[in-house]
Amino acid sequence: MAPRSCALCNDARAILKRPKTGQQICKDCFFKVFETEVHNTITEANLFKPGDRVAIGASGGKDSTVLAYVMKTLNERYHYDLELFLLSIDEGITGYRDDSLETVKRNQEQYDMPLKILSYDELYGWTMDRIVSTIGKKNNCTFCGVFRRQALDRGATALHVDHIVTGHNADDIAETVLMNIMRGDIARLGRCTAICTKGEDTIRRSKPFKYAYEKEIVMYAYFKKLDYFSTECIYSPDAYRGHARAFLKDLEAARPSAIIDIIHSGEAFEVKEEIKATQKVQQTCKRCGYMSSNDLCKACTLLEGLERGMSAAVITDRARRKLEAEGPTPADLRTIPFFHPPTASASPAVEVESTA
Ligand SMILES: [Zn+2]
Ligand SMILES: [Zn+2]
Repeated sequence: MAPRSCALCNDARAILKRPKTGQQICKDCFFKVFETEVHNTITEANLFKPGDRVAIGASGGKDSTVLAYVMKTLNERYHYDLELFLLSIDEGITGYRDDSLETVKRNQEQYDMPLKILSYDELYGWTMDRIVSTIGKKNNCTFCGVFRRQALDRGATALHVDHIVTGHNADDIAETVLMNIMRGDIARLGRCTAICTKGEDTIRRSKPFKYAYEKEIVMYAYFKKLDYFSTECIYSPDAYRGHARAFLKDLEAARPSAIIDIIHSGEAFEVKEEIKATQKVQQTCKRCGYMSSNDLCKACTLLEGLERGMSAAVITDRARRKLEAEGPTPADLRTIPFFHPPTASASPAVEVESTA
């Protein structure tokens, strides 16, 4: 049988089957179609304006490494006129994050982007290794998720950026839609497909890979020979998300468009006004200044639990009342440095890791 030619250019030999569409195409057409789709996602959502300073949340994994590479490529090709930075959070997980950060440090040189690393240890005084050795593996993802979110905002503020982009892909978003449906969390369902989220006094966050399939990101990294770190976190992952992921993979195997279809379904839901009205009003944390829907933000609550040796007890509201009932917060309690939200007048000198 003669080699099949590319379904897009009809010229070169097809060497791969595109996971999203099943088309047999050549390598160059794959790069082009993948990059162009991301470019279209960015321009249709009007994500950036010329002169924006944009931090790429970089873990060293495939998604954020491909994101850094593609953002650099598109920024040059289409003259977005963005200043790009790499921002990494060091959770303090030996044998996982320390190795993946070495990858990010190489990416910094490969892509010629300034890198800032912010660690849980310097911000909270706790590494994930120490948290897990104290509380066990059961709820460690809760701590890590809350701590990471705030650390990213604080790192971005230190870089004086206007915008954070993350490597969340179409599979991640489709999983989240499924999880919110299965939990009946309609308020979150209404928000989880948004490409860009923007709090009152937080930095814009967006997901340029919202429509990019995980399989295509892996394929892109492979054919471009990008330098990334491919080990999963050594601590137990979110089990519920694991079920949604396995279910989604089954659906994708039967019909590849399932991932995009689920995202489109999520986008098409209309959330009733009275459900939107149940969302709590945002205020700032009385202790650390970070945005919060209660007097204390989640990170301060979790940190207080850790410091007072009641860590397992602070994940639910009821448990927090128990913490309060134990007595007043000790005066010498370790707290998170006060957060000063970004102001419009930014762009002084920026502290970044040296390339040396
Ligand atoms: Zn082609
Ligand atoms: Zn706080």
